[in-house]
Amino acid sequence: MEQRIVTDKLNRPLKDLRISVTDRCNFRCQYCMPKEIFGDHHPFMPHKELLTFEEITSAAKVFADLGVHKIRLTGGEPLLRRDLPNLIALLSEIEGIDDIAMTTNGILLPKFAKTLKKVGLKRVNISLDSLSDRFGEINGRGIMPSTIIHAIHAAQDAGLGVKINMVAKKGMNEDQIVPMAAFCKEEKIQLRYIEFMDVGNSNDWKSDEVLTKAKILEQLSEQFDLEEVPYGYGEVARRYRHKDCGTELGFITSISETFCHSCTRARLSANGSIYTCLFSNSGHDLKSVMRGGASADEIKAFIENIWMNREDRYSEIRATEASNRKKIEMSFIGG
Ligand code: SAM
Ligand code: SF4
Ligand code: SF4
Repeated sequence: MEQRIVTDKLNRPLKDLRISVTDRCNFRCQYCMPKEIFGDHHPFMPHKELLTFEEITSAAKVFADLGVHKIRLTGGEPLLRRDLPNLIALLSEIEGIDDIAMTTNGILLPKFAKTLKKVGLKRVNISLDSLSDRFGEINGRGIMPSTIIHAIHAAQDAGLGVKINMVAKKGMNEDQIVPMAAFCKEEKIQLRYIEFMDVGNSNDWKSDEVLTKAKILEQLSEQFDLEEVPYGYGEVARRYRHKDCGTELGFITSISETFCHSCTRARLSANGSIYTCLFSNSGHDLKSVMRGGASADEIKAFIENIWMNREDRYSEIRATEASNRKKIEMSFIGG
């Protein structure tokens, strides 16, 4: 089937879909789900509110018809969703989808990596913010870096592509910038430094706590000989490589070098709403449309219309908007 190209009001095509499969998580990262707010009795979504695997697959098929060829599964912690490999198997059958990836905290990867690879998962981004014991405080559950390193190796052994995500935040892990780069260079894994973002309303974001790409590069340049890799349209990360070995590292510069002009990504929340920006304050209720008995063509028109009317560019207008916008939580919409 021929994929259509649908563009939004700023002429950006729809190309990628992030699917959040659960809002639950077994971590309580300070910058995402601080445990003071996401306590033991936090009301997560009831199961009946979640899209079923069949519903997610039907939606993904429509997105594929509209130009999406990459899917990333996220959450909350995606591996907490029961029988997740069954969903991946269904998604990998969709014509036009040539890449399925997942972002995970890694804790359940040793159990699932081989099965995930077998059913069609290609790549994982594993989150690891520190190699010191401080990581236990950052993740709010006392999980040590060695546990995540074990998960990284399990993913590699299973044949999955691996990148590491590190949220960089002043007062949290600036002393880990160089050790993490050294570790990833040694392991020949691409590390992505993510600037601490003002997602949601719970993480007490302050602009002076952001470790920008420029500040991180300053530290890295004292230790490593790096060169910039040319930036391509639709790419999210600004990439650099070690001159001696070619291993890359990247930066997600949502704060210091915005990339809204090339943002081609739609998001589907676990309860079936479509969000056209990570910083949206509301979504479009696809689940009701689907459960209301809409035909495939009606669902397609619904999604197409949402994309065609999209004009989000929050990162570019953050300075004027940030203080008054109420945003959806990162653990809900998926990173
Ligand atoms: N639980 C999975 C994980 O942690 O990899 C997937 C969901 S998590 C919301 C997706 C990514 O968003 C993770 O790499 C996480 O570190 C990142 N993230 C969460 N909160 C963030 C924040 N405030 N600023 C920047 N990145 C954040
Ligand atoms: Fe959970 Fe991922 Fe958020 Fe950490 S970043 S609390 S692992 S969803
Ligand atoms: Fe895309 Fe919104 Fe992020 Fe801009 S702020 S890059 S539009 S998700």
